[in-house]
Amino acid sequence: MSFKWRDYRDNNKEKVMTIAAEEFIRRFLMHILPSKFIKIRHYGILSNRSRRTKLKKCRIILKVSIGKSESKTKVTASEFLLKVTGVDINKCPCCSGKMITKMKIEPKISGPPDKNTKTA
Ligand SMILES: [Zn+2]
Repeated sequence: MSFKWRDYRDNNKEKVMTIAAEEFIRRFLMHILPSKFIKIRHYGILSNRSRRTKLKKCRIILKVSIGKSESKTKVTASEFLLKVTGVDINKCPCCSGKMITKMKIEPKISGPPDKNTKTA
């Protein structure tokens, strides 16, 4: 059998691996934890529960300031697009005139699908 996978060591390239079905199942089962075990991605100062406060304390103790790239400065979508793509969406592509927001379209937020409604 063949499956796609990402090689993080090779610039995150998507690759196709072909192995025997039994070997795939063996590898897949290695990811399943015994019952009552939980996966922990980060622990210590990087645990989700206290990462922000503990990292802040570490920075104070080590007298390290947050770099400008790390600091949280709010950037608007148009500022972000200008920085990333070099395209100013506030300028008309034809005459370079200033674009004016006439109306904002809010996203439609819908709840989870009804349990009783079955989809094919
Ligand atoms: Zn124009």
